[in-house]
Amino acid sequence: MYFIDVILPIPLKQTFTYSVNKDEAAFLKQGFRVAVPFGKLKLYTAIVYQVHDTAPHGYETKSIDHILDEEAIITASQIKHWEWIASYYMCTLGEVVKAALPSAFLLESETIISLVKDKVVEDTSLRDEDFLVYEALQHRSPLNVDDVKSILDKKNVVLVLKRLLDIGVIEVQEEVYEQYSPKLKKYIKLAPAYEKEESLKELLDQLSRAPKQREVLMQLFMLQAQLKKPVGIDALLAKSNASASSVKSLVAKNILEEYYIRKDRINYEGEDATEVKTLSDSQETALQEIITSFKRHDVTLLHGVTSSGKTEVYVRLIEEQLKAGKQVLYMLPEIALTTQLISRLQQYFGAQVSVYHSKYSIHERVEVWNNVLAQKEKAQIIIGARSSLFLPFQNLGLIIVDEAHEPSFKQYNPSPRYHARDSAIVLASLHKAKTLLGSATPSLESFHNAELDKYGFVELKRRFGNVLLPSIELIDIKEKHKKKLMTGHFSDRLLEEIHETLNNNEQVILFQNRRGFSPIVECKTCGTSPQCPNCDVSLTYHQYKRQLRCHYCGYHMAMLVECNACGSDSIDSKGFGTEQIETELLSLFPKHSIARMDQDTTRGKHAYAKLIARLENEEIDILVGTQMIAKGLDFRNIGLVGVLNADNLLNFPDFRAHERSFQLLQQVAGRAGRTQKRGKVLIQTYNPHHTILKQVSVNDYRGMYKEQLEERYQYKYPPYYRTIRITFKDKNLTKNDQAALWYTLALQKQLGANVLGPEIPPVARVRNKYISNVLVKIPKPQSLAKTKEYINSVQRAFNLTKEFSSIRVSIDVDNY
Ligand code: ADP
Ligand code: ZN
Ligand code: ZN
Repeated sequence: MYFIDVILPIPLKQTFTYSVNKDEAAFLKQGFRVAVPFGKLKLYTAIVYQVHDTAPHGYETKSIDHILDEEAIITASQIKHWEWIASYYMCTLGEVVKAALPSAFLLESETIISLVKDKVVEDTSLRDEDFLVYEALQHRSPLNVDDVKSILDKKNVVLVLKRLLDIGVIEVQEEVYEQYSPKLKKYIKLAPAYEKEESLKELLDQLSRAPKQREVLMQLFMLQAQLKKPVGIDALLAKSNASASSVKSLVAKNILEEYYIRKDRINYEGEDATEVKTLSDSQETALQEIITSFKRHDVTLLHGVTSSGKTEVYVRLIEEQLKAGKQVLYMLPEIALTTQLISRLQQYFGAQVSVYHSKYSIHERVEVWNNVLAQKEKAQIIIGARSSLFLPFQNLGLIIVDEAHEPSFKQYNPSPRYHARDSAIVLASLHKAKTLLGSATPSLESFHNAELDKYGFVELKRRFGNVLLPSIELIDIKEKHKKKLMTGHFSDRLLEEIHETLNNNEQVILFQNRRGFSPIVECKTCGTSPQCPNCDVSLTYHQYKRQLRCHYCGYHMAMLVECNACGSDSIDSKGFGTEQIETELLSLFPKHSIARMDQDTTRGKHAYAKLIARLENEEIDILVGTQMIAKGLDFRNIGLVGVLNADNLLNFPDFRAHERSFQLLQQVAGRAGRTQKRGKVLIQTYNPHHTILKQVSVNDYRGMYKEQLEERYQYKYPPYYRTIRITFKDKNLTKNDQAALWYTLALQKQLGANVLGPEIPPVARVRNKYISNVLVKIPKPQSLAKTKEYINSVQRAFNLTKEFSSIRVSIDVDNY
């Protein structure tokens, strides 16, 4: 008798045992996929964990349905890594598998299948069964696997589906995103009307009274002659010392025409070839220090101020790895936010760069997976968000975690609730590779680890080109209100600086941490504010659609005309969001182009990339946005960054609120003045004496670090204590409270006063479910493994308690 243990992509126990015959046992190895029956009707794709001959006790094993692969698609080191994740983050291997594999690898019976549009298929190339399904789909698409079963009148249809998938006739349904936002580059040419010599002559005569504009034209002709290809507007500006405004007026007069050409992401030939940049002395020193540091440390933290040129240092490290034939993983907090970086790396490494991200279609993801597995040339450098660390690397040499302090590296929901930075470090160690964490504002934990010499540490203290860090001014808006110097949400100082910046032909970025028009709508008569019916929060007013919306569940309704409670029509709004700022700007600066970047304006596929391109091309004068605008963007012409209100960041109820505020404000400030001229940052606040704001204004990372660390020590938070949060959710409030209390008491038996709660979170109900939290704090000397073991034993007892069977419990390790 032969058996295999398999991992099923479900949150049940770790592995399941099935029986196989002798041939199958000889053929199968860890990392193969097999289709297995589960429950009465279901069929799942499972991953072989091990092959053995020990019959399980107490139950009859079923046999497998089919083998899906000819060779393993998952490597041994992936399985090891996933086991670490499952054990560290207290979830099942199945949950990790589900998160790790592109869903096309995991056909299951609920899977929905649809026809690939416009795919031409020779009928003769299909087997009979394939054809039946193909035909059925032409009448009715999509189908689910059960439909296919009844069409073919058989239980086992996985092979048919796999064949159709392989030849690209069907696709597994999922939101399919377009491949990649095409990057458009702005070019400039003479309007056709002036192409004839006479009219051109006439034009040049006319322009003798506008020497600057004439000069621009002459430069354009010269560039055209030199390059013998389209002239980018950036190239023209660089060559001719012309101001953007003289080009603008030539365009306005219809003498020049702007047009766009799509910049293909891989086909970089023909583009102005980027010479490899020479590192500055401090970059060179940092590079050497990193290389030296890696001799002693597996992990090194690169603390480099914004615009210090970290990316160029990464480029050198990557080059070195490629020369040694190693793969490199370059992780970013959110791919959507880093179109810029992708094209920068592609300029250097061209076709060796692959991008892996959940927003790409499943076919692209499968392709990247296979390329990485086969160590293909085009998958030597992977740029990806957190899920890229699940790829089947064979020969990883280096992981770069850029913007390593970013909270979005942590996955909160669903399980596995892993931190990609920490999981990356473990992944690197499995490959005997190195990890570089890069940040201008490292997280407290990472900096602490560097201080303890667990990580190596390298610093870049100056901006590239010795550009000064922006000057940061705090503006007391309480005072400004008193003196009646506020126009809407703008102080006189901020308005003054905006005007000046615009007059200098520079752009302005304004930061407001909330989207929508105003967060709270309130009746002036009775004080009631409209609430989400599903969640325990007030609705946010969105003026553009005249709607009230819930930011937790998406519920929305038309804006009220009168109060629901008392019928009064004196409905007022409190607080403000990006939308309101945009509205105020439109009336304050009617002649300038104003745009907004937040979740509401970047929903469309390419909306984000388009906004970035418009800002790069200087078609936007003032951009107002949420923290989206803070991350890693490199713009050339931002003279001023304004923060409308720093207080709502600082007052957030979280032990990291101060650290996060510091990071966010420094990052936002870092967008200003990245070329020659020193940029300006104005921060409006009701508390100009707040320590964090003081530290932000003088760039005092270390001061912030020391002070926050002290607080963490006093209040028993990371990095001194580890924390695990256990969350309870149920429709029934009483039952949920009882369950949380039961669990807390059980934990306290062993862990005593380090178990806090149950506590009701600020938003106590979401999507009709009540929420209760318990926090377990773990002091350094206490074994983390033993603590988790104990929590697991409490969980098992909890599972056996019938009255709690409806309660959803989720465990979040390192929940911050
Ligand atoms: P960071 O990632 O540290 O914020 P970047 O890598 O974006 O900084 O660099 C900031 C700017 O300086 C970029 O526009 C980059 O092109 C430029 N830069 C950095 N290093 C060099 C170099 N060695 N030579 C020329 N330009 C550089
Ligand atoms: Zn009322
Ligand atoms: Zn809601």
